[in-house]
Amino acid sequence: MQRAIPNYAAILGPQSIETLGLIVDRVMKGERGLLHLEPDTGSKLQFFKGPPGSIVCTVPLCEGCLGSCTYCAVKFARGKVKSYSIKSLHDVVRRCVHQGYREIRLTGQDTGVYGHETGETLVELLQALDAIEGTHMFRLGMFNPHHILASIGEFLQVMSSPRFFKFFHIPLQSGSNNILSEMERRYSVEDWQSAVRSIQKKIPLATIATDIIVGFPGEIDEDFDKTIEVISDSKPSVVNISKYGDRPGTVASRARNKVNTSVKKDRSRQLSALVAEVVTEQNATWLGWTGPVLVVGAASKGGTLCRNASYKAVIIQKRLTPGNTVDVEVTMAHRTHLAATVIS
Ligand code: SF4
Repeated sequence: MQRAIPNYAAILGPQSIETLGLIVDRVMKGERGLLHLEPDTGSKLQFFKGPPGSIVCTVPLCEGCLGSCTYCAVKFARGKVKSYSIKSLHDVVRRCVHQGYREIRLTGQDTGVYGHETGETLVELLQALDAIEGTHMFRLGMFNPHHILASIGEFLQVMSSPRFFKFFHIPLQSGSNNILSEMERRYSVEDWQSAVRSIQKKIPLATIATDIIVGFPGEIDEDFDKTIEVISDSKPSVVNISKYGDRPGTVASRARNKVNTSVKKDRSRQLSALVAEVVTEQNATWLGWTGPVLVVGAASKGGTLCRNASYKAVIIQKRLTPGNTVDVEVTMAHRTHLAATVIS
């Protein structure tokens, strides 16, 4: 990196949170060439502060992952799994609740590996957090399906608590087992489908979010067709589509069977059209729904953004106080959100 950017001001590692302020000060005073790649002291959580003026805050459960996906560069920065203890997370979340945060996002590169190296489990953590009294709700971050399948019953039991948004972010990446194997994703399409089916059976109004990479090296029409088939069958409510792009230093970036850019664009367009259809159809099922929503804040295109228990974006054309809960009726279903009016 020093060779690539010879006149750098400062290089900091992902663990350099303690020195960040000092380094910025020194750079502002004109210093250059500061290198601070600090070892992980495990102390990052004690610096946790939520954003001011918001009712949403993000608490990291763990860093790193157990994967070695052939396209991923995040692994180089985050490394092995490091989980915060249940006790320390319990303390931080209690502080967040006390400070008035109403939506608490529990995050990690893969929350499913929480506790892998400490012996504590994600289910135990969620049970402990569920017991914290207050008017807040949790949104659990992304987890890979194979890390959750062994304890899916207990996991869904705790996720059924009213304290948790019924939001499940489970990346699929491809509907073809050949491509998943090339990606070294370490789960099969069937594993993903099994996790999704279990969630939908136990929590019918759950929002399933997933990620798809189109045009991974070696992806042929048959592989892409399988992705289309899996998405049409399972109908996730949120699909984040990305076109494969090289990340320097990764195994996939050295592949010789890259997919042509125009093919990637075409597949991305086809999948986006399908997702728009699936999501519009699903959102229409919410028409006439009445129930409570949490007021989050001003929506980017006008009105007030709220979330119902399924984490659906509900927009109300009225100024409401963030943090309050109001009862609404859904009057229109759009592709990106539901429109509603207040009924209480
Ligand atoms: S894609 Fe996710 S699971 Fe795979 S190596 Fe990267 S961070 Fe880990």
